[in-house]
Amino acid sequence: MSIDLRSDTVTRPSDTMREAAAAAAVGDDVYGEDPTVNELEAAAADRVGLPDAMYVPTGTMGNQIAAHVHADRGEEVVLDRMAHIYDWELGGLAQLSGLQTRPVDAVDAVLTPEQIDAAYVEESLHRPGTGLIALENTHNARGGVAVPPESISAAADAAHDRGVPVHLDGARLFNACVALDVDPARMTRDVDSVLFCLSKGLGAPVGSILAGDEEFIADARRVRKLFGGGMRQAGLIAAPGLLALENVDRLAEDHENAARFAAGLDEIDGLRVSDPDTNIVQVYTDELGVDAETFEAVCAEHGVLGGEHGDYLTRFCTHLDVTREDVEAAVDRIENAVDDLRD
Ligand SMILES: *Cc1c(COP(=O)(O)O)cnc(C)c1O
Repeated sequence: MSIDLRSDTVTRPSDTMREAAAAAAVGDDVYGEDPTVNELEAAAADRVGLPDAMYVPTGTMGNQIAAHVHADRGEEVVLDRMAHIYDWELGGLAQLSGLQTRPVDAVDAVLTPEQIDAAYVEESLHRPGTGLIALENTHNARGGVAVPPESISAAADAAHDRGVPVHLDGARLFNACVALDVDPARMTRDVDSVLFCLSKGLGAPVGSILAGDEEFIADARRVRKLFGGGMRQAGLIAAPGLLALENVDRLAEDHENAARFAAGLDEIDGLRVSDPDTNIVQVYTDELGVDAETFEAVCAEHGVLGGEHGDYLTRFCTHLDVTREDVEAAVDRIENAVDDLRD
């Protein structure tokens, strides 16, 4: 059996999650009448220390709703050039909200106050004005980097000094919080909205949470409807989401497994391996002279699945469905794969 490290989205719902789904009390959530969705939204808001929250089908939809609510058509969004919301969401900011992006190169995976000051544009006859600052934690494409809350707050303060709201793409917010031993409420303290995924390391089959204040969430509910995300008896999929919130602390295991996996791979000649903060390990194969597409294919033949994330960059994620033994076996298999590639 292949060890699937392509993403932490590949986790399968547990039997308990399936039972909870089958037994869930439901109603029409567009009418606000699904008790399970309401319970999940309340629990999720509480978990991230924000006043209100809304269940959305995907992280992408949550990010795009947030941008649509915060910024006006034609305004600019300042973000890292490797941010998911910019680089991996089909240009949704432009397509769905008519927003122009102003990408900058994040330092240590977060925008600095200086970068925000420099990128800010004042609305004028010639310029649209900055409508949103978007941050990401953990930072996926930069290797699952856990950004400390002080850096998030510093960026948020700089944005707020200019009167610009801040959205935090925290698809893996809890990975950051567990890695840094920070209360999620501290991490979100100075931002205006946060998105987190239930469907990644937390193990739910479907869904994400967008949180913010009551006024933001009231607007967000209209935009969710606009984007086609108003669901009906969604309690069936929200029930496993409630159980997923119990999987926060165990993310530490994924981080330990990632560290062990990275240390093992680092011993293999020719591989350059990132030092993971959380559950994402980046492997560069340029020194081996093998591109990521080939590396990924040969690893797959040897029973380890990773994902191509650049010409010479392959990403591996640990998650709920892989054990310590799995990552150790994965190292051995990749070692064999590299031997094959050298022949
Ligand atoms: C996965 C991810 C998303 C989007 O989540 P989906 O549920 O796959 O749409 C957004 N941001 C980051 C950083 C992610 O890793």
